[in-house]
Amino acid sequence: MKFGFDIDDTLINLREYAFGLYQEKLGRKVDASHFHELDRVEIHTLFGMTDEEGHHMWNSVLEELYYTECPIYPGAVELLQKLERQGHEIYYLTARPGKHAERTKTWMKQQGFPVADSRFYCGMKDAEKVHIIEKLELDYYFDDKPAVVEHLTRGSLTVVMKDQSYNRHLAHPRIAHWDELEPLLSKNRN
Ligand SMILES: [Mg+2]
Repeated sequence: MKFGFDIDDTLINLREYAFGLYQEKLGRKVDASHFHELDRVEIHTLFGMTDEEGHHMWNSVLEELYYTECPIYPGAVELLQKLERQGHEIYYLTARPGKHAERTKTWMKQQGFPVADSRFYCGMKDAEKVHIIEKLELDYYFDDKPAVVEHLTRGSLTVVMKDQSYNRHLAHPRIAHWDELEPLLSKNRN
């Protein structure tokens, strides 16, 4: 089967890592409960920033976010390795800016993710991402972002949400931890 994965906040805990980094850089402590209640992807409102200031802040720490110690969600690497061993095709689709494609791919490989160069897509807008996902004729696709998931309508594709505070209004199947995937796959087989 063909499995497609978003990267940020699906396989790796980027926003929460950024939340910690912002506190460090700004010298401000924000209670984690506020982070876990956010109903939007962006985190800057927790620090009283406007969207413009938030955009600027995000870009100023991007290198650090992408290429240092961002934690991977537990079990994600092992699971994808297992899927690959079982003969499934693993695709990655990330909307990170295109200039980060090669380094992101290298970083993912360094973390142990099974990455085939020809199955790695980077630097697209949400609408284009939807188009690529549909064209690849994936069997499963995993993402956290409502703006992507809401537009995936091909009948034979099973879309699974990585549970996040800002996507709970959607009724798609969801997983909070990667160890929930195998039970979900076997349920779908029966
Ligand atoms: Mg994401």
